[in-house]
Amino acid sequence: MSANEKKYDIEKIRKAHKVLKEFTYELKPVVRGYNDRTLHIDLATREIKIKPVPAEMKKKFIGGKGFDLKLLWDAVSGSTRWDSPENEICIATGPIAGNTNYPGSGKSIVTTISPETGIPIDCNVGGHFGPYLKFSGFDAMEIQGKSDREVIIFIDGNLGNVQIMEAPLEAVNSHVIAEQLHEMFAANEREKQHVSVVSAGAGAEHTWIGCLNFSYWDKRRKLPRLKQAGRGGTGTVFRNKKIKALVVKYSGLTGKSNNPVDMETLQKTGLKLHKEVINLDDKQCKMRTIGTAHLVEIMNDYDLLPTKNFRFGSHPEAVKLASWIWKERFTQNVPDGCWFGCTMSCAHGVDNFELKTGPYKGQKVLVDGPEYETVGGCGSNPAIFDPDAVIEINFYCDTYGIDTISFGTLTAFVMDCYENGILNQERCGGLEMTWGNWRAALELMHQMARGEKFGLIAGKGIKYMQGYFVKEYGADAQFLKDIGMQGKGLEQSEYMSKESLAQQGGFYLTNKGPQHDEAWLIFMDMVNNQIPTFEKKADALHYFPMFRTWFSLQGLCKLPWNDIEPADNAKHAEPNKVP
Ligand code: SF4
Repeated sequence: MSANEKKYDIEKIRKAHKVLKEFTYELKPVVRGYNDRTLHIDLATREIKIKPVPAEMKKKFIGGKGFDLKLLWDAVSGSTRWDSPENEICIATGPIAGNTNYPGSGKSIVTTISPETGIPIDCNVGGHFGPYLKFSGFDAMEIQGKSDREVIIFIDGNLGNVQIMEAPLEAVNSHVIAEQLHEMFAANEREKQHVSVVSAGAGAEHTWIGCLNFSYWDKRRKLPRLKQAGRGGTGTVFRNKKIKALVVKYSGLTGKSNNPVDMETLQKTGLKLHKEVINLDDKQCKMRTIGTAHLVEIMNDYDLLPTKNFRFGSHPEAVKLASWIWKERFTQNVPDGCWFGCTMSCAHGVDNFELKTGPYKGQKVLVDGPEYETVGGCGSNPAIFDPDAVIEINFYCDTYGIDTISFGTLTAFVMDCYENGILNQERCGGLEMTWGNWRAALELMHQMARGEKFGLIAGKGIKYMQGYFVKEYGADAQFLKDIGMQGKGLEQSEYMSKESLAQQGGFYLTNKGPQHDEAWLIFMDMVNNQIPTFEKKADALHYFPMFRTWFSLQGLCKLPWNDIEPADNAKHAEPNKVP
């Protein structure tokens, strides 16, 4: 294991900070999973205030995504665009979030109006920020307005203090700024785990596919780990507001911090689930050793792995991206949970990875992942079958704050356009965007991060490119519509859905665009054949989004609850619902 290479002077960076606004608040314990208040920050006026959470709001909106959408709804109007000052970044957990007795209870939900779709996007993300925000006193935070200079927002959850500070010298790219801020805001090595940082990166600044990185401190590796609120341009809005980072610091977490109503039942249920995960994961999913990348060979075998811009569902070379390849590269036997108490621990990492391209070329870094969607998007879909190239793309996507799914799907689209003569080297800023050319794909991403050449066009997503190629190059609009895998402006995530009516519905009936988290039905439909009739597919398209939304309202990760099935699951009347 290695540290990311340090090339900064932390004291110099700290000294350049100037507090622009400070706000103190009363510390109170969480009661039954709620603080009953949210934090509102306006970066234009620098006003910081607390809003109460009335009982009605809890009853109607529960928490998490519900609270986010309520706050966003109250803040914007029908004419609000993604870059309007009133657009907000909302971050919320939920009443169960932060509890360490259940596995997978550290999720935050981010919402904003998306640059890609023009409508609300929501993403759930691990890392410590959401739970620490909650135990610092807030069920949610909303950030409105635009700053006139680069800022950091710092919440000290032990002192009851919020600061907006000018931050001119910190890095922008996430793997560096996260490390800088964990170091800066912790008094000693031990305290680093009490800090969490939200950041974006240079790619988020110049594209519409920017993501947010939520950190947690990995005390074994002595480095921050990053989890992504990936879809729809959350990081783009963040950088448009000139936010370099959000930092929360909280110590004092215990198993009772969430102050639940019924501790005994909670512990009993948690224990049952921990046992199921430990006993069954290796037989069912191998999430503890490989993570979601275990899906690659299954999808390939069932003709569901997108290849060459969703033209095909499998490829002879896909074996080079199979789970055993990742298992060899992931460091094993380290606790890889993205929140305390997650026995599933699926957040794997590649240590000491030496970069071949870009501004950090030659450095050895820690890469989080890749997860299945990154392998499908940045590997098989653009026909890149070199696992080390996928790891490098994964690293740069994360540190630049670029969504791996959108990047993968749009790169496959660009390659398809190139192979069909719509694009050429000149139009692509000097890049030869042929199938499988991973160096060109990486250079495209570096162009996005530098805000130059073709990176500026491609970084706006497939929908934008479709219009641009018709207008500028006289391309056939119908052909581009046929090969551009986007809905509402959002790039489709990495499942072949043309033979799965259920997944096709799951993608294109969603509120936000074709992302699998609202209705991930591909496995039930095509692998397990649990919903064979039209009626069953329609029923799944109703209950699955309800079920997934419930997780997002609560601040829970669905993986330990849904992907690991109890040993007697098949005996239930409706095993597909994992009752
Ligand atoms: S299952 Fe994985 S993503 Fe979910 S909480 Fe656990 S470590 Fe995080």
